Amino acid sequence: MNRNLRKQWIVTPDQLPAVIRRCPKCGKKTEFINSGKFRVNANGRLIDVWLIYRCGQCETSWNMTIWERAEAGRLEKEEYEGFLKNDPGLAEKYGNNRDLFTRNKAEVAVANVEYHVTAVDTAYPCGEANAMEIEIRIPPGFDLRADIFLMQQLPVSRSRIKKWCEDGFLLNGGQVLSPKEKIKDGMLLQIRKEACRQIQEEESKMIQYHIV
Ligand SMILES: [Zn+2]
Repeated sequence: MNRNLRKQWIVTPDQLPAVIRRCPKCGKKTEFINSGKFRVNANGRLIDVWLIYRCGQCETSWNMTIWERAEAGRLEKEEYEGFLKNDPGLAEKYGNNRDLFTRNKAEVAVANVEYHVTAVDTAYPCGEANAMEIEIRIPPGFDLRADIFLMQQLPVSRSRIKKWCEDGFLLNGGQVLSPKEKIKDGMLLQIRKEACRQIQEEESKMIQYHIV
């Protein structure tokens, strides 16, 4: 891997966020899971579209409103057909839409959602030799703390990440990163060469361990 090219880390949640609601059947607050299915109701020229969630314990459904009595012309034809076909891309788009959750007064359960990261090289060289630059792509509303995220992605401990922040080895768009900061879409993380050297040391230790 060439450390001198800026990388892009694409964060993809493995599940869509659940919604916390009081389930009438369970009689308590439960997690409602995105079913990936839509309900479409066309009444003359007015259209309603909901995304269906189901209680994780008893399957009781809750419909999250996407369109309510919308004039047919306001919906894109392609999207309308996607709703009818339960297009997974649309379930992901609307199932990650913070504004929509707010409009539906839905409390989102984003904690404990697992995710994976795909790393790709960009064509841009890093500003500093032997350093790393990472541009983050992450869906809106997916909350991750910088120190926890970096600990999971790099072969170092959380206390080491904290130390790097204190020493100014970890930057966010030129400013010193705070370990508590949230990872945001489009943010540019810079890992200074001093920290990269420590990453290389940890990596070489791991390689030796695997050979033994
Ligand atoms: Zn229930």
